[in-house]
This record gives sequence, C-alpha cells and structure tokens, in this order.
Amino acid sequence: MKSNSQKIKCLIIGSGPAGYTAAIYAARANMSPVLYQGIQPGGQLTTTNDVENFPGYPDGITGPEMMIQLQKQAERFGTDVRSGWVTKVDFKDGLKVWVNDNEEIECETIVISTGASAKYLGLESEQKYLKLGGGVSACAVCDGFFYRKQDVVIVGAGDSACEEAHYLSKLCNKVTMLVRKDEFRASKIMQERVKKTENIDILFNTETVEVIGDGQVVNSVLVRNNKSEKETKIPVTGFFVAIGHTPNTDIFKPYLNMDETGYIINEPGSSKTNISGVFVSGDAADHVYRQAITAAGTGCMAALDAERYLASL
Ligand code: NDP
Repeated sequence: MKSNSQKIKCLIIGSGPAGYTAAIYAARANMSPVLYQGIQPGGQLTTTNDVENFPGYPDGITGPEMMIQLQKQAERFGTDVRSGWVTKVDFKDGLKVWVNDNEEIECETIVISTGASAKYLGLESEQKYLKLGGGVSACAVCDGFFYRKQDVVIVGAGDSACEEAHYLSKLCNKVTMLVRKDEFRASKIMQERVKKTENIDILFNTETVEVIGDGQVVNSVLVRNNKSEKETKIPVTGFFVAIGHTPNTDIFKPYLNMDETGYIINEPGSSKTNISGVFVSGDAADHVYRQAITAAGTGCMAALDAERYLASL
C-alpha cells in the first residue's frame, strides 16, 4: 500500500436511496462506511419534485428534502459522507479505487450504488421545463399522479414507453405517444396493450420540435411528422420522456459482468457481483423497477451481504 493511500472496510459509491440505505445499515453494523457522493449528490431524486410513493411520508416529501434526511440518517450512525467522484477502480489484486483521479483507497468491501441516468431528447425547451419542475418528467410512476385527468404526451417506442403510456392511461384523460419511426421497438405484447387502450393515441413518424409553456409550466408540444414535414401543436400539461436509461457503470466495465446496456449483473436473490467483496444496489443493476423504494431495499441487501462477507473472511 502506498503511503498516501487509505484502507477502509466498506466503501459506498453513490448517494441515492440505495447508497444511503447501504450506509445506514453498514454504519449500524460497525463497518465504518465511507460514502462518496459523486457528481450529483442525492442522485436522480434531486431532480424530482414531490415523492408521494415512498412509504412513511403520508403527506409526500420533495426529492431533495428526502435525500437530505437520508444523508443525516446515514451520518447519525457514523457514515463518513464525502464529496468526490470515483474515477477509476482496479479489482485485479484486491479492491482499489481512485477518487478525483488521485486519492487512492484500498477497500475490504465495496457497494456500488452509482444509479442510472434517464436519457432526454436534449431540446432546450425540454431541459428548461425539466429544471423548473414544470411538466417534463422521465418517470411516469413517480410523476403521473400529478397529471390526473389531464392530457399528456410520452416520447419513446420501447417497452418502457409502452409500459409507462399504459400506466399513464389509467390516470390521465388522454395519452399521446410520439414514435419517431413507423414501428415500435417494444415487444409485441406491450405494443398490443397500448394499441388496445382507448385513450392512448399513437403518432408514428413523429418527432418533438419544441416543448411549449408559459415560462413556468408546459401547456403544449409542437411535433413534426418526419414524412410529411407537417407540424402540429398538441395541447398537454405533461411531457414524459421514456427513451431509455444509461447505467453509470463505465468505470467497472473491465471487471464486472454486465448486460449489453451496461447494467451490472448480480447473483439472483443477492447483491453479489462476480468479484468477491463487490456488491451492487439500486438502478446500476435494475432496469425493471427503478424506484427509490426498490433501490433502498437493495441498498440494505448490499450492506448485509458485505457484512456477512467480512464475517466469513
Ligand atoms: P429501449 O432502448 O428498448 O428503447 C428506447 C426507445 O426510445 C426506442 O424505441 C427508441 O426509438 C426511442 N428513442 C431513443 N432516442 C430517441 C429520441 N431521441 N427521440 C425519440 N425516440 C427515441 O429502452 P427501454 O427503456 O424501453 O427498455 C430498456 C430495456 O428494458 C429493454 O431491454 C426493455 O425490453 C426492458 N424493459 C422491459 C420491461 C418489461 O419487460 N416489463 C419494461 C421496461 C423495459 P427507435 O426504436 O426509433 O430507436
């Protein structure tokens, strides 16, 4: 070990609900966890307004406030929460990580909770209303409830878009799906489900030109048919994007088993990865559920698995 490197029992990478829950459990098990927050402290929930589906908050809570509370709870039991970005790992001979490219840490266990990032179209108007919390969302399950009995648009043609369109159709008055090609990418069964749903309107060959609003909230979307070039304005209050997620797992690629999209593959029913002592929790390994509560649940699993691993050595 180099003289300027540290040695720690349990390193947690990431500060979403998975990371903080792992930290709470690891700290209470006397593992003296160190948690690095990453470039978006608090994770994806910090871009969400109200969280109404996390048990224990009958009146809801804002995403940022919830993450502050989770951090406090983790710190209360002794988690060392640090700002910093894990830029490199080496799992060849022991478990080594580098923070901000220079600080080296040797770890006995690592919990990866680096999450995933929703993809957006990248339009200026989309980003503007996303930041304002004014009607742009990449999570129908999180935010659909706020658009009850209203008209919304959802962009995408994969399984997520179909699943979310169907979810929204049960809450909203009308859901318009914008599909950029003349076909879906989703599985047949998911396609059939949306096609059969009365209040889902599917517009093929259709792309978003602009998300329009009053400066605070969305009130319509300008779309273009890429065959006819005809532009149409659709009045809506919600603009949902379901064009996929990117798991934040690039630095682990040389060492960990992953699927083709980059989601880390864990042993079924546990948080174990293919490297002893390295555990995964939250969206970095989950493209199916992607909820704060499921991330928290797997964060708990990862800390318990890490504790049992240390005990077995
Ligand atoms: P996918 O990558 O499967 O699909 C992304 C969709 O978004 C594609 O239809 C793509 O269009 C569209 N898209 C991408 N970029 C743009 C853009 N700039 N403008 C408009 N449309 C765009 O992602 P999903 O999140 O849907 O699914 C990820 C994985 O998770 C898949 O393997 C899926 O099967 C799985 N999944 C399974 C579920 C289930 O079984 N219940 C539920 C949800 C996901 P195009 O087709 O034109 O490229």
